[in-house]
Amino acid sequence: MRVLVTGGAGFIGSAVVRHLIKKTEHQVLNVDKLTYAGNLESLASVQKNARYSFIKADICNRATIADAFVSFKPDAVMHLAAESHVDRSIDGPAEFINTNIVGTYTLLEIALSYWSKLTNERAERFRFHHISTDEVFGALGSEGHFFEDTRYDPRSPYSATKAASDHLVRAWGHTYGLPIVVTNCSNNYGPYQFPEKLIPLMIIKGLAGEPLPVYGQGLNVRDWLFVDDHAEALALVLERGRTGETYNVGGASERRNIDVAHALCEVMDELVPRPGKGAHRDLISFVPDRPGHDFRYAIDFSKLRSELGWQPRHSFQEGLRSTVQWYINNRGWWEPVVAANDAARRRGLSKKSA
Ligand code: NAD
Repeated sequence: MRVLVTGGAGFIGSAVVRHLIKKTEHQVLNVDKLTYAGNLESLASVQKNARYSFIKADICNRATIADAFVSFKPDAVMHLAAESHVDRSIDGPAEFINTNIVGTYTLLEIALSYWSKLTNERAERFRFHHISTDEVFGALGSEGHFFEDTRYDPRSPYSATKAASDHLVRAWGHTYGLPIVVTNCSNNYGPYQFPEKLIPLMIIKGLAGEPLPVYGQGLNVRDWLFVDDHAEALALVLERGRTGETYNVGGASERRNIDVAHALCEVMDELVPRPGKGAHRDLISFVPDRPGHDFRYAIDFSKLRSELGWQPRHSFQEGLRSTVQWYINNRGWWEPVVAANDAARRRGLSKKSA
């Protein structure tokens, strides 16, 4: 297949591109605006491959993206480009509205126009795969799980824009017949994640001997999915998922944030001990909570398991250990990124005036 991937220089997108190049025979065109979150260094291992190409472009730019469709002639689109950080969406929702909603709409219009001109056989094979989040379902109490048909109830500017994009994608499927498939996944972690998200932020703070910030009392619960497991699931859904369907993707690893912090500290004590300076756990510091912080997310992915035989390969312990080891070994990737973007600065506490 010829796969046009949007957001392929981001955390999950780059894992998807590496997977497609290294583990399949597909051709990949990576379309990415290279915002603060995009980094071509994440693709160093595949950039010379003849099946990989890249264009720097904004998905809101209709003319450029339409040209990319005409010249690349994709059999499928994997749409990952997005503004993805909840805290940033609290301070500045505008970019989220632009990229996540207007960008997705623009991409759908271009894909529809392109698809409607394909021969029957190619049109039948075409896929528009939209990658989304479990945050669209809102917050759970201490019981229950999100299923594919759970009612939408987004609560942050980020999740509201992702919910909007999911609705647009399904509407283009229902109304215009565009062959779409949607996946909603839980919190990803792993190598090449921009160090503003919980796990990489704690790792780089821990390596610097700085306080490890835990929001509120650390009692919020997330399900953690190792990014390479997610990339594998996405490729499987693209190739074998049923058109028009939604698949949840989860890691079967529910943890309270404070337990994630403790697990990380244990791994760091082992891999980078601080002789004479105390355990990493001593660095944990409780900071003001995120406004509107959803209490718990938990995902039921039994549909993906029973239909396509997927399940995560990495336990949380294994995934966490290899992630810590990766950040220890790859300062050359993250140090410039952190310095250039003030990545570790606390965001998302701004109180917008009514
Ligand atoms: P990321 O922030 O690491 O990467 C986003 C990528 O999109 C970057 O390379 C950026 O340059 C690019 N991009 C942003 N705006 C663009 C635009 N207007 N045009 C073209 N490219 C643009 O995000 P991620 O963590 O890799 O997430 C990828 C997708 O998965 C997103 O759609 C996100 O909503 C979804 N998702 C992420 C998680 C997670 O835990 N990270 C969980 C669930 C769903």
